[in-house]
Amino acid sequence: AKQSMKAQKYALYSNSCENQPLMMRMFNDLNKAIANNEFFLLYQPKHSVLNGELRGSEALIRWRHPEFDVLSPDRFIPIVEEFGMMNTLGRWIIREACSQIREWMDNGNICRISINLSARQFQMDNIVDIVKEEIERARIEPGLLGLEITESMAMDIEKSMNTLSNLHQLGVLISIDDFGTGYSSLNYLKRLPIHELKIDRSFIRDIEEGEGDKAIVTAIVALAHNLRLKVVAEGVETAGQLQVLKQIGCDEAQGYYFNKPLTPGEFELCFKAVNA
Ligand code: C2E
Ligand code: CA
Ligand code: CA
Ligand code: CA
Repeated sequence: AKQSMKAQKYALYSNSCENQPLMMRMFNDLNKAIANNEFFLLYQPKHSVLNGELRGSEALIRWRHPEFDVLSPDRFIPIVEEFGMMNTLGRWIIREACSQIREWMDNGNICRISINLSARQFQMDNIVDIVKEEIERARIEPGLLGLEITESMAMDIEKSMNTLSNLHQLGVLISIDDFGTGYSSLNYLKRLPIHELKIDRSFIRDIEEGEGDKAIVTAIVALAHNLRLKVVAEGVETAGQLQVLKQIGCDEAQGYYFNKPLTPGEFELCFKAVNA
């Protein structure tokens, strides 16, 4: 019986269902999770494609649930959003990343951290104020903070322009995440104040085989460079993939070939390698 309870709860975490008592349980778990320090951020380095140098990092959230080990964000972010709790968790993520930037700075290591913004979070009326407050609270350069939003969030120009120009004014950097997977009117690219495109992992996976994905990535890099945007490849897992990206002229790469998402302590070893 215990086993099937657990299976049911897993089902709940992976998609919303009609089971009210379990929904309430989930709600309570989430409410307690911040206070109990159950969320934590891992940091995945971004590297120069040309020479592998450390260029920055991306914060990726995890939930150390008291019963279900460590949950990945795909399992709980949608539910957090559904319950209208992204307000609280979103603020926590921004604060945590800013104070990590500050901590690394205090240790003599300047490193940008990019945060993933959820759709709801990006749409909040006060998102710019929140980002500003947390930057000031941590006393960091705004340029050391990056925000990753998806194509679909950016594409509705009427809605996103205001927020993005205010964030741009503030000095934080904006990346378009999972680029290439969304519905594409590319018009928004030249109109919005963005800095970087992150090419989705699905285009990188088979980049060595066949010409299809390679052609697409080549075109994305050319487009981005024409618009003076930096290009980052996600999910680079092999030396062969990196080699192709180098040929194509992609700027930066992230992926298991270099590093998996790291704890702050593990990340410090990357600084040591850089400073050595
Ligand atoms: P994403 O922004 O596209 O992040 C990349 C995902 O790919 C991460 O999964 C990362 O661990 C994984 N990854 C990195 N390198 C490789 C690789 O070489 N191979 C493969 N197969 N995977 C790789 P993760 O951490 O489970 O995050 C999943 C998604 O959850 C993220 O996708 C992002 O959309 C969302 N997410 C993560 N952290 C946050 C957060 O703090 N806030 C919000 N709103 N969303 C978050
Ligand atoms: Ca991302
Ligand atoms: Ca991504
Ligand atoms: Ca992706």
